[in-house]
Amino acid sequence: MESRYNPAEIEEKWQAAWDAQGLDQTLENPSKPKFYALSMFPYPSGNLHMGHVRNYTITDVIARVQRMRGYRVLHPMGWDAFGLPAENAAIDRGIAPAKWTYQNVAQMRAQLKRLGLSYDWNREVTTCSPDYYKWTQWIFLQFFQAGLAYQKEAAVNWDPIDQTVLANEQVDSEGKSWRSGAKVERRLLKQWFLKITDYAEQLLQDLNQLDGWPERVRLMQENWIGKSTGAEVVFKTEAGDDLTVYTTRPDTLWGATFMVLSPEHPLVDKLTTPAQSAAVAAYKAEAAGKSEIDRTAEDREKTGVWTGSYAINPVSDEKIPVWIADYVLMGYGTGAIMAVPAHDQRDFEFARKFGLKVKVVVQPEGETLDGDTMTVAHAGEGVMVHSGPLDGIPAGKGAGQSVEAAVKWLEANGKGKGTANYRLRDWLISRQRYWGCPIPVVHCPSCGTVPVPDDQLPVTLPEQVEFSGRGPSPLAKLEDWVNVPCPSCGEPAKRETDTMDTFICSSWYFLRYPDARNESAAFDPAKTNDWMPVDQYVGGIEHAILHLLYSRFFTKVLRDRHLLNFDEPFKRLLTQGMVQAAAYKNPVTGKYIAPADIADLSDPRDPATGDRLEVVFEKMSKSKYNGIDPKDVLEKYGADTARMFILFKAPPEKDLEWDDADVEGQFRFLNRVWRLVTEFQASGAKPQGSGELTKPEKDLRRAIHTAIKEITEDLEGDYQFNTAVSELMKLSNALNDAPCKESPVYAEGIETLLALLAPFAPHIAEELWHLLGHADSVHHHAWPVADPEALVVDEIPLVIQIMGKTRGTIQVPAGADAQTLEQLATESELAQRYIEGKTIKKVVVVPGKLVNFVVQ
Ligand SMILES: [Zn+2]
Repeated sequence: MESRYNPAEIEEKWQAAWDAQGLDQTLENPSKPKFYALSMFPYPSGNLHMGHVRNYTITDVIARVQRMRGYRVLHPMGWDAFGLPAENAAIDRGIAPAKWTYQNVAQMRAQLKRLGLSYDWNREVTTCSPDYYKWTQWIFLQFFQAGLAYQKEAAVNWDPIDQTVLANEQVDSEGKSWRSGAKVERRLLKQWFLKITDYAEQLLQDLNQLDGWPERVRLMQENWIGKSTGAEVVFKTEAGDDLTVYTTRPDTLWGATFMVLSPEHPLVDKLTTPAQSAAVAAYKAEAAGKSEIDRTAEDREKTGVWTGSYAINPVSDEKIPVWIADYVLMGYGTGAIMAVPAHDQRDFEFARKFGLKVKVVVQPEGETLDGDTMTVAHAGEGVMVHSGPLDGIPAGKGAGQSVEAAVKWLEANGKGKGTANYRLRDWLISRQRYWGCPIPVVHCPSCGTVPVPDDQLPVTLPEQVEFSGRGPSPLAKLEDWVNVPCPSCGEPAKRETDTMDTFICSSWYFLRYPDARNESAAFDPAKTNDWMPVDQYVGGIEHAILHLLYSRFFTKVLRDRHLLNFDEPFKRLLTQGMVQAAAYKNPVTGKYIAPADIADLSDPRDPATGDRLEVVFEKMSKSKYNGIDPKDVLEKYGADTARMFILFKAPPEKDLEWDDADVEGQFRFLNRVWRLVTEFQASGAKPQGSGELTKPEKDLRRAIHTAIKEITEDLEGDYQFNTAVSELMKLSNALNDAPCKESPVYAEGIETLLALLAPFAPHIAEELWHLLGHADSVHHHAWPVADPEALVVDEIPLVIQIMGKTRGTIQVPAGADAQTLEQLATESELAQRYIEGKTIKKVVVVPGKLVNFVVQ
């Protein structure tokens, strides 16, 4: 009997069978060690792309191997389902965001199921579902009660097309909206923030615990937090107000010859003299319309206006003018800086443009800089001068140097204090959009901001909403929803109409999976503490900063609320590479051309211009006409081939280049496995044999256990799936070539091949496993363990050289001595071919390696 490998048939059959058996449900057996395998959950756009397929296949192999190794494995899936695209669909096509989202979820879930991913679907979470966002709101209130959620008026990025506030990271390097492409404007609005800055130091320090993370991701987090050490110094205005500045160079205080405030600084109006008020007002109005990126661009012409007032330099007691300039931002530090033009290039340019004093306090070795004549700031090393107590000290950071000496002196004289500063700022979470989690507070004229009581959660999103795509949030227009009695005093009050940044919903979803159906709490701490931390997290590098940082922040806050007992949510992190494919690009116009529009792909030319096209490998995308729909690959080859190709083509963290020939190659390999096993089964061989193994049996057994050893090692530590697949191919070749197909060793080899293949190609492995007569699933089989005795090599290849030139190898017993090796080599057919009829002058033997004949 021989049948053809028909992936469509067996994959559908086994997916249904596994579902019915509950094969992928999470084992709650506390006697087994736990393993939590997690892929970053997707946004339900409606279509699965190859990047998803790669991410989820990697995690699935890890989960399947761990199950076979005896772990109880949690491997769930869910949907990051709030966000702008649903609202845009509502505006463009008149379909309700909830309906659009749930349709997409259903479509993508069906696509995922076709891939044979071993998810426990009983734990699926959907962030836009009230049974989930009820707890997002509850967690928000935990932050509120801890004083970590607050409102403040802030200058925000305003997208004039989408009519919404954008986070800084949603504004590109040209100051345009990441989504609409509109030039971003500045506006003042009352916004909700989470106080992530309270955790800056912990978020930085605990990166040291994350040795299972890629170094580059840890570095990205460190840079984002951006710690610097320096001093806080208070300058007094002439009217006696405090202007606090933060500086990383307190040693240069004696060289501070003016101050610059952000135009939004609260003291600007008070400081402005009547003579300067018109100029200051005009400047403030202009700055308000510019984005942060514009304001802080390095190469920009410096602008600014004098307030007309002075402050006193606290170390030199000099009167120095106070200016405003838009390059100083209110959100960073204190919104005020001291300017040291001699030693900071930006301050220098500002001073020269406006004729301000330049005073040298760091003199480089062997030079005599003069503030009146220098043409560029000196930011480098030197010795402190004109700096009172610091004179003569080497300039710089570290023990015995000027920065440390300056901090000491400031603290001793009550003029300032040493402090750390962070680039990280509080997290602006308010969005003036509909399709998000409502912020559960009510604004009461008498009680102020009142949290919605826990027993009134969730604050549900109303379904009947009109979308114009313009103006304020649709929620703000719903009178019935907005007007509610105050939960505290019962008087008329108004709901908050902002919704939360969707990054909030994804900052705690991994805590919900261990207890996903809990209706009375976000999670039972006992269950979540049992499963957490995630043992292996897998996702794209594009989430290396924000999603991971926010998730770490949430974990620490909930730990401090006594809901969790661990510090870090993700023990190990794998950032998988991109999936790329060939695209045709016109190097002259920069345009991409669809392959269908190219007459001859062997000489690709632009049909419009005739230019020769470049073939480049780039991330799959519609705009480059190089996307490959997973659906097409599944239909043609099946899920097992798609999985095998993705795992084989590149190590998981490297970019992968799509190649149809290699997909075909994996399909052929699975066909070979199919043939090998069905022929073995059809031969009806009753494996027999006992006692001493023959040489072919020993060789085959070594091949089997070498495969076990190598594949097991490839699945530890760095996950080398590509070499693991190569080892599977080697084992299948060894079985194919084995002359001992009736031996029990051959039967062992066939079963081992299927067990090792199971995590990679789960359907074909299960089908063939059952064909061999097993009643239980191959996925319940224990992961094979290499027998060290089988690995012992009893023969090794010996290189034969004639006059130093390699002519080939012969097999010799491992551990043979030099004399035996010389004899075996001399008698070998290989050597005889070259030495026959010649005189052997000398034989060089390197035991275990080679024999070289010197002949005449
Ligand atoms: Zn009230």
